[in-house]
Amino acid sequence: MRQQAQSESVRWLAELRRSADALPDASVLVDQRGRIRWFNHTAGSLLGLFRPQDRGHELGARFAGTELGAWLRHGGMGPVTDIASPLPEGPRLGVMLIPVGRRARILLARDVSAISRLEQMRRDFVANVSHELRTPLTVIHGYLELLDPNDVPALAPVLDEMRTQSRRMGQIVEDLLTLSRLEAQQTAVDDRVAMAPMLASLLREAEALSQSRHRVELVRESRADLIGSSRDLHSAFSNLVSNAVRYTPTGGSIRISWRDVGEGAVYAVEDSGYGIPADHISRLTERFYRVSSSRSRATGGTGLGLSIVKHVLSLHQAELHIESRPGKGSTFSCEFPAARIQRTAT
Ligand code: ADP
Repeated sequence: MRQQAQSESVRWLAELRRSADALPDASVLVDQRGRIRWFNHTAGSLLGLFRPQDRGHELGARFAGTELGAWLRHGGMGPVTDIASPLPEGPRLGVMLIPVGRRARILLARDVSAISRLEQMRRDFVANVSHELRTPLTVIHGYLELLDPNDVPALAPVLDEMRTQSRRMGQIVEDLLTLSRLEAQQTAVDDRVAMAPMLASLLREAEALSQSRHRVELVRESRADLIGSSRDLHSAFSNLVSNAVRYTPTGGSIRISWRDVGEGAVYAVEDSGYGIPADHISRLTERFYRVSSSRSRATGGTGLGLSIVKHVLSLHQAELHIESRPGKGSTFSCEFPAARIQRTAT
């Protein structure tokens, strides 16, 4: 009787293994010490794991020197939607680590090459269209600037509107090209970005945009500098400044600040403006997402500013936090980790 139950269990186990081998996704069971205990057949074609030689290896060490290995070394935090396979010429992978029991884990990997290709096509298409539009727009804009409204006074308002719209189109194209460039980057450059001149220039920009319609203040509590791309960080920070000016009615106040928080530092722009209803906040960084299209357009917005901010911050491993109360104002904070902070004097 006992023998019959045992052979029944063995049959079950074999059937389970066959089913796991037939799955289109790679699954790798890792024990509490991080060692590879078992993996299915697909782990061979997607990750290059083969039985029996790869059993018992430490998972992170097995993939050392690859993008997957780096992700595992950083704790395998959160699912990753597009990463290179450790195999040369291998597919693009979506990976995640699932905790099992007390400390064991399963690494799941899926072939996302088709989605990745489509995503690349979308990126190329947007970049190409924007690039193609740049020259004709520059020509139209140039001719519009040459026309003198005094020659045909009746057409002056029309000419004025045409100039405004061609400038807006030009700005949309420039913002789309910036986004394409940021999307194509994997990491930011590691230059030292001096924050004192950066903050001074942001304050000047805020004052120039505001034209004395707001109280503008700079609070520099941190002496830290940043490590990253000066050009991209300036573009992100100045987008937040420009939004604060554009979405704060005359008489309001704007505060730009830079302060230490733990080992990291936070750049924030606080305004006493219109504010944003809570249900919009999670979507603000989507391309062309606007709470009020008319207000955005009236102030020369492209709807792309916060997407640029999000991309720049993610290239610097920083996070964007948005707090807002309708009618009271908003605070946009960029939190930089210790790894992006330089505190020593040069
Ligand atoms: P836009 O060019 O329209 O300003 P953004 O991507 O910079 O595009 O911002 C997206 C939307 O988020 C804006 O249209 C606006 O509705 C809202 N928003 C951004 N910053 C602020 C702010 N400081 N106060 C209120 N609303 C804001």
